[in-house]
Amino acid sequence: MVFQGLSNSTEQFDVVIVGAGGAGLMGARTAGLRHRSVLVLEHNERIGKKILISGGGRCNFTNLDVGPEHYLSANPHFCRSALSRYPADQFIELVREHGIAFYEKTLGQLFCRTSSREIVELLRAECRRAGVHLKTGCRIHEIERTDREPRYLLKTSHGDFACESLVMATGALSFPKLGATDFGYRVAEQFGVPVIDPRPGLVPLIPELADGRAWPFAELSGISLECVASAAGHAFRENLLFTHQGLSGPAILQVSNYCSMGESFTLNLVPHLEREALLEEARTQRFTAARWLEQWFPKRVAAALGRQLAPATPLSQMKQSERARLIEQLFGWKLRVKDTGGYGRAEVTVGGVDTNALSSKTMECHAVAGLYFIGEVVDVTGWLGGYNFQWAWASGHAAGEVI
Ligand SMILES: Cc1cc2nc3c(=O)[nH]c(=O)nc-3n(C[C@H](O)[C@H](O)[C@H](O)COP(=O)(O)OP(=O)(O)OC[C@H]3O[C@@H](n4cnc5c(N)ncnc54)[C@H](O)[C@@H]3O)c2cc1C
Repeated sequence: MVFQGLSNSTEQFDVVIVGAGGAGLMGARTAGLRHRSVLVLEHNERIGKKILISGGGRCNFTNLDVGPEHYLSANPHFCRSALSRYPADQFIELVREHGIAFYEKTLGQLFCRTSSREIVELLRAECRRAGVHLKTGCRIHEIERTDREPRYLLKTSHGDFACESLVMATGALSFPKLGATDFGYRVAEQFGVPVIDPRPGLVPLIPELADGRAWPFAELSGISLECVASAAGHAFRENLLFTHQGLSGPAILQVSNYCSMGESFTLNLVPHLEREALLEEARTQRFTAARWLEQWFPKRVAAALGRQLAPATPLSQMKQSERARLIEQLFGWKLRVKDTGGYGRAEVTVGGVDTNALSSKTMECHAVAGLYFIGEVVDVTGWLGGYNFQWAWASGHAAGEVI
């Protein structure tokens, strides 16, 4: 097939990257520094919108401890190659070169001291240094492919562009108000590249009690507690936050990656205590559960938990099985996901372009020469803690080295 529309007005580039988020800008910078001519097309009026709001405005741009174990994917080994060739140290070095002050908040998570804007400016400056062309406010109407060079033709609101390598860095479905679209998945479909069903990740959960009763803790909204949240063999010791509808906070966002709607997760609300010692202590207590729990929980939480998890009689007068059940639930309270906060509140999308269709070294589609997918559009999802940006940098860099 020869492009019908390849006219004199068609601009040619070695590489066109769709999406000016973390992955697209890193890919563009890396390819530009190799003296490839690169064009980035972004439909928002501004680049890096997600970076700007990330980490509460301070962008948790990477983590000191990054490994494949911090990611979910149908193929857990896929991310290994890109992550090892662009480790966190390299991005930290870049941050230092640009004079950006940062600090470790907790668990190896690195944040900008001043503002996420500095990371966007870093990427903009690096792209400028690499001679990258950038067009914002650009709508892509159509993509055509041929077997000859240049392989791809993009018809857009800013004219037609032809390129050898086409990189999809369009992100995924979370936070549609920042410009997230399903465009990457649609392009995958156009070229016969499989996509693993997406779902919201790092998202608040709306639980129901294991017996199907509705969530009875709306009154605790705003209170946070340390806990261990677990699902599918993964456990996270962090804070949970009660909300009007259900649960949020880092522990819940982390565990949300591992349980879909209808599935269960478990909370240990007393990770600092010993089960046997507690059982023994409860046996002789003349207090009700609500009163007894006040030694570890804020009064309102103790009252609400006591009401839900035990009869209103003194602990010493309860049946042994009732006391055992209370302790059991404090250490392993099983809840079912009734719903989630949806894409509007999800920090990431789990699922995406099937990694089996991509080269783990280059991100190129095995079956479609010159077509690449990088960043969140791919079925690689990180834990909370800077891992998602590290994947964006690493996958962008992997493609940028070959396109
Ligand atoms: C509120 C929030 C906070 C977060 N905080 C952190 C954090 O602190 N640390 C961390 O590691 N991760 C964080 N994340 C996750 C992180 O932002 C993403 O994983 C990361 O931005 C993905 O990078 P990306 O380049 O693949 O996609 P994106 O950043 O989503 O970039 C994709 C770009 O493609 C553009 N685009 C989409 N469709 C089209 C189209 N049809 N045509 C042209 N352009 C298009 C979009 O407008 C966007 O600019 C956060 C996410 C959210 C929502």
